Amino acid sequence: MRKYIFVTGGVVSSLGKGLTSAAIGSLLECRGLKIGLQKLDPYLNVDPGTMSPYQHGEVYVTEDGAETDLDLGHYERFTNAVLTRASNYTTGQIYHSVITKERRGDYLGCTVQVIPHITDALNEAITSAEDDVDVLITEIGGTVGDIESLPFLEAIRQFALDKGRSHVLFIHLTLIPYLRVSGEMKTKPTQHSVGRLREIGIQPDLILCRTEKEMGSELTDKISLFCNVEKPCVLQEKDVDYSIYELPLMLHQQGLDRILCEKLGLETRDPDISAWAELVERIKNPKRELEIGVVGKYIVLHDAYKSVYEALSHGGFANEAKIRLRKIDPEELTPDNVAARLDGVDGVLVPGGFGERGFEGKVTAVRYARENRVPFLGLCLGLHAAVTEFARNVCGIEDAGSSEFGDQWTPVIDLMEEQKKIRNLGGTMRLGAFPCKLAEGTRAREAYGVEDVQERHRHRWEVNNAYRNTLKEAGLTIAGVNPDLDLVEVVEITDHPVFVATQYHPEFKSKPTRPHPLFRAFIAAACAPRPEPQPKHNRATA
Ligand code: GLN
Repeated sequence: MRKYIFVTGGVVSSLGKGLTSAAIGSLLECRGLKIGLQKLDPYLNVDPGTMSPYQHGEVYVTEDGAETDLDLGHYERFTNAVLTRASNYTTGQIYHSVITKERRGDYLGCTVQVIPHITDALNEAITSAEDDVDVLITEIGGTVGDIESLPFLEAIRQFALDKGRSHVLFIHLTLIPYLRVSGEMKTKPTQHSVGRLREIGIQPDLILCRTEKEMGSELTDKISLFCNVEKPCVLQEKDVDYSIYELPLMLHQQGLDRILCEKLGLETRDPDISAWAELVERIKNPKRELEIGVVGKYIVLHDAYKSVYEALSHGGFANEAKIRLRKIDPEELTPDNVAARLDGVDGVLVPGGFGERGFEGKVTAVRYARENRVPFLGLCLGLHAAVTEFARNVCGIEDAGSSEFGDQWTPVIDLMEEQKKIRNLGGTMRLGAFPCKLAEGTRAREAYGVEDVQERHRHRWEVNNAYRNTLKEAGLTIAGVNPDLDLVEVVEITDHPVFVATQYHPEFKSKPTRPHPLFRAFIAAACAPRPEPQPKHNRATA
């Protein structure tokens, strides 16, 4: 019989429910269980695809091309769960489906209401993600007490009633604030939050307390008593010292996975958490420290490039290096100040993005990296910047650019013919996994060690095939191509420590325990002593 774990959050938002859910998943996997992970988000947007990265952080893309909440990135980084469209639902999506049914007349004239119609649709959404797993972990977005989360809580209460209480577990993640004035840790907000849950009819089985300081047993006993949760089921999630990847070990040391299995009646093998233990040792004892310049438009919000930053640290783990980030606003980069702004960085990364703002600064950063032989990785729009720079300064097409930014440029980056046709009908984004064939003898092929890979996309514009030969003849290697659509996927300058740019987003597939090959190779090059600059390619400026 399949088991279900629901994770709710109390007191404040941003407690790390996503990370906690992911860590719980990883611990269950260490016991040999097959898990699924899912998030229900309380906002009305139908998906986060159209939400500003400044507000909502990165849009995470699944293999099947769903644009989802960034917490799904944590799920994939911590576990092997297969995430799909069914792994993220929003209130907007649920209402949209119910209203569409109503318009079609599916409800046969009955009054359509939050209970039971929305709650039923939520329960269907939950079961749609349970395919072939032993345990499905569903994170409920928002904070208990929010008006918006109420239908979710009502739905999971009904869900537990329907499945039987022995198959469902409720975990509540809460905050125990530390008051500096009195030097005390306070349980009252947690008591109130659990009170709200119990009013709706949900009694949490486990309480995980986010704390700044170690909690003594008097506190956990108090929470147990007031919140009606058994003493061993009040655990703490103290702020981590080094890295979020300490979380699985921290929870395991308190017996979390054992308790979960006992409560759910799951018999498993002994847990093997050696991979996490080794990883944490590695993270705690780096042999070197590197600085990577990230030249991206959304640098003000760390979450906007979440997967990129994580993948960089993973590349660091593989090379026993601690990564420091130098976040650089491309709008402030000019040919005059680029050397000063990027001085001393061990690598330059230009991530993805939409819109023209800052694009010229990115091109300037690419040129600096190319000419000074600084390891470079370009992702999606970063590839557009790399190809534009190469076309302008090496091929001599001075007005090379992307038609994304208007028709004043010679379009070395353009929409493909078929896209131009579909464009008028809306929806042209290339989303999700596509195949890529890597050419023999390239850096990319060497890094991956295989010829055929699948990587995830989220973009519209492509390298214009009409300029492929011009670029190639001037020395840009087309290292990867989509074999079905004949589109450029990877470009590189092979005669450079590492200068690779991808049309896809490799950052979505990197895990701490399995760093992405391109990030591993990029950081490995960043670790090596820098060769002397040899700006031999420049034609336009020579
Ligand atoms: N704006 C570019 C495009 O749509 C790149 C998108 C991205 O970097 N994700 O093609």
